[in-house]
Formats: sequence, C-alpha cells, structure tokens
Amino acid sequence: MVTATTKAAKAVIKKGSSAKAKPAKAAAAKSAAAKPAAPKKAAAAKPAAPKKSAVPSKPERLEMFRRLAEYHSDAHCELDHRNAFELLCATVLSAQSTDVAVNKLTPALFERYPTAADMAKAKPEDIEALISRIGMYRQKTKSLLALAEGIVTNHGGEVPRTLEELTKLRGVGRKTANVVLGVAFGTPEGVVVDTHVQRISQRLGWTKNDEPITIEQDLCALLPKSEWDHASHVLIFHGRRVCKAIKPDCEACPVNDICPSAFDAELVGRKAGRAR
Ligand code: SF4
Repeated sequence: MVTATTKAAKAVIKKGSSAKAKPAKAAAAKSAAAKPAAPKKAAAAKPAAPKKSAVPSKPERLEMFRRLAEYHSDAHCELDHRNAFELLCATVLSAQSTDVAVNKLTPALFERYPTAADMAKAKPEDIEALISRIGMYRQKTKSLLALAEGIVTNHGGEVPRTLEELTKLRGVGRKTANVVLGVAFGTPEGVVVDTHVQRISQRLGWTKNDEPITIEQDLCALLPKSEWDHASHVLIFHGRRVCKAIKPDCEACPVNDICPSAFDAELVGRKAGRAR
C-alpha cells in the first residue's frame, strides 16, 4: 500500500533529481553563489572603554535628588567648627585628608589660635607641631599663616563673604570658598565638587563631564540655588556611606531603579589607575 508519507518522500526525491539535471552554467553560478562567505575579520580587540552613564531626563534626575535627600536627611558638613574662620582653616586642612583626621587636631589648633589675628602671628613650627598628623602639613601651615595674614591685612580680621575675595587667599580654591560660603554664610556661589560629588554625579548620569568646574555647572543648572549647598552634603554623604568608589552598595541604594549605573558602577566615575 502506498501511504501519504511514501508519496511525499517520493516527491522530495523527484525534486532533488530535477535540480541535479540543471544546465552546467546555472549549476556553476549557483555553486559560486553558494560559496561560503569569507570568514569575517575578527573584530580588533579594543581596550575596554570606561563605561559611560546614560543621561536620565531632568525629572528623573530631580527625583533621584529628592530620594537621596530624604535618605540622607541628616546630611551636613562633617568638619567641626564654630565660625567661618574655623571652617575655612578646617577645609584647607582637609585637602587629601579625611574629615575625621582633621577633626582630631583642630580643637587644639583653634584653642591656641582662635582668630585670624592670633594665627597670623603664629610661628610656623608651632602650627606644624599641631597639625603634623595629617598629610602635607608643612604646605598647609604656610597656607594657614598666609590666609590668616590676608584676612587681617585686607579684610579687617573677618573672613570675606564673596567667592572672588575668598579665592584670593592663599590655599583657598573654588571648592573651599564654596564650602565656607554655603555652610558658614548660607550664600553659596556654586556647588562644592569634591571627589564624592564628582563620582556620584557621573554615576547618576547628572553630568558627562570630568572636570570639577564643568560638573559644577551641570549641577547648578539642574538644581535650584537654594539646594546648592545642601546637594553637596547629600552627595558627599551618599558617596561615603552607600555609593563608595569601590563596591558601591547598589542593593541598599534608594535610587537603584532609576540610576543608570546601578549594579554596574565600579568603572563609572573613578579615577583611572596609575600606569606602573
Ligand atoms: S544605584 Fe548604585 S551606582 Fe547608582 S547611585 Fe546607587 S549605589 Fe551608586
């Protein structure tokens, strides 16, 4: 008995035989066409490019800030101080040092030199002895003496209240000046961009820039002026407690559903390793 399957099989065989009977020219053409394509050149091995954050929309960025500010509701300047002069000195001392280390030595420093006038008259070796436990203490001693002298000579002993005047003091850059303006006077002229603010802003996709000044411009454009000082503390708290340079704790982060670097942040916003 010839089943349907047998019929179908025969039809396939017949079709195959007719293909074999094609003229030689056509067969050759087909054979050429059927030639396997030359293997593609293997893609050149590129060095892994640093991961770039996507850019979330402005409402998403503002939502991230709202949540981070809520999460770090106790965010504040962690340098101990009682007035603008002490904050200025503490901030100068904090360059390349931790706030904790600075807070350990400033009580003795400020007890001995409570005002700019007192510090301007100090002997360098006396200040050095008080701050020698932190890095670059000789350089920082020179800065403290010069800035105290500048405050006495040019500002009647009072810490000036503008970015322009502050940054004319020795050892006082834009970042230090904005710390003093924001924290001591409540009149920031920008956002403080330290290593934490830089890294977190890049990871959150708030900036594509690498330079503090352009990152600051991006942050100032994003946030209302009333938040400039607060924002830097929030981002610094987040950088110290959650979004650390190595092993950021994305699991615990309140913005892990909208952060473009979530669970993949290690290479974003970190300084390139030094060539050895
Ligand atoms: S989700 Fe991760 S990378 Fe993004 S801000 Fe939070 S801790 Fe940082």
